[in-house]
Amino acid sequence: MNKKPELLAPAGNLEKMQIAVQYGADAVYIGGPYLNLRNNADNFTLHELYDGIKFAHDNNTKVFITVNVFARNRHINQAEKYIKYLNELQPDAIIASDPAIILLCNEFAPDIPIHLSTQANCTNWMHARFWKKNNISRINAARELSLGEIKELVQKSGLDIECFVHGAMCTAYSGRCFLSSFATGRSANLGNCAQPCRWKYFLIEETRPGEPFTVIEDNDGSHIFNSKDLCLLPHIESLFKAGVHAWKIEGRMKSVHYVATVVSVYRQVIDELFKKGTLVKEDIHRWMNELQKVSHRPYTAGFYLDEKDGLQFTDYSKPIASARFLGMIKGCDNFADGWRIEVDVKNGFNVPGDYELLQPDGSFQNISIKEMWDAKSNLLCRANPNQCIAFNHTARVSRFSILREILDG
Ligand code: SF4
Repeated sequence: MNKKPELLAPAGNLEKMQIAVQYGADAVYIGGPYLNLRNNADNFTLHELYDGIKFAHDNNTKVFITVNVFARNRHINQAEKYIKYLNELQPDAIIASDPAIILLCNEFAPDIPIHLSTQANCTNWMHARFWKKNNISRINAARELSLGEIKELVQKSGLDIECFVHGAMCTAYSGRCFLSSFATGRSANLGNCAQPCRWKYFLIEETRPGEPFTVIEDNDGSHIFNSKDLCLLPHIESLFKAGVHAWKIEGRMKSVHYVATVVSVYRQVIDELFKKGTLVKEDIHRWMNELQKVSHRPYTAGFYLDEKDGLQFTDYSKPIASARFLGMIKGCDNFADGWRIEVDVKNGFNVPGDYELLQPDGSFQNISIKEMWDAKSNLLCRANPNQCIAFNHTARVSRFSILREILDG
């Protein structure tokens, strides 16, 4: 019998952490105010780190804190102070990639497990054994590995192996890229990537600066470095059988809709695989359909299979989604004639209209909203972002459910 993999979800802020926990994550990874690779994610303040860890632990969820920059000399003093502070908070692991940070963790937070970040690009089992000697307890396998290489890593490394199963990919070797530094002065290795790999490019002859040539055949331009998004769901049974310890979802900068949807799908996948040892095609199809609803680039298995299915998406750079996130349910009160549902609106919508609710247990409700009210009980025909609205419904709806609109074709 295979071990049940841990589902590790991104949490860019406290709200996303709550969502990840409600939708079934076993563990979340978060960044504090210093030295992590998502400077643009909201990130947790020192106080929020404490609150977040308490909330997650009260809900039986582990918290891993990323300290995964490649530090410069000027960062070392700050890193030492920060790791001493993390030692007081006692998260369930620190995620690091720089040997300097790993040394500091060993010295100043000796009881906190250290997980090797994908930034360290561990591509073979000898590499993993090196880190084992330096007290690393878990390796995030480089996204560039195939299933065969991952299996060998699991068998020979003597460590827990974690793999990305879903999310954005880099054109470069997982973040080891200077494109953003050159183009914008924002360093990918300090968590500040502007993603210029996804921009539109032209070819210019040096004496004709105002006459760009389009490098691609069609009118949409050229997006030669625009990686597709990783999605291992169609091949996930083989990852389960390989005995990978943890499945990681990328995306600390993604929306609560993304976190809810993707965590919900992989939660169901893990539970079903653990119960039955296999998945049926209909379920995979239903879950793939669900993953199409969040904003993403076309999906790929990345380097997981021996044959490559086209890692780049060169048609255009805009993400796609088959649903539009409208808001999150923040309350549900019982009235004589049904239930009064309160929604925190994130994107505007009109009533009357037909919408869909995704609940934290993975179930759906189709919902027809005929009338809605604002906080002062004024009737509304349009809900606007950041507004709190209410409507009546015939069934109870769980708090933290996602309200969304399914888009045509
Ligand atoms: S520019 Fe693109 S390839 Fe380079 S680090 Fe940023 S996302 Fe990755």
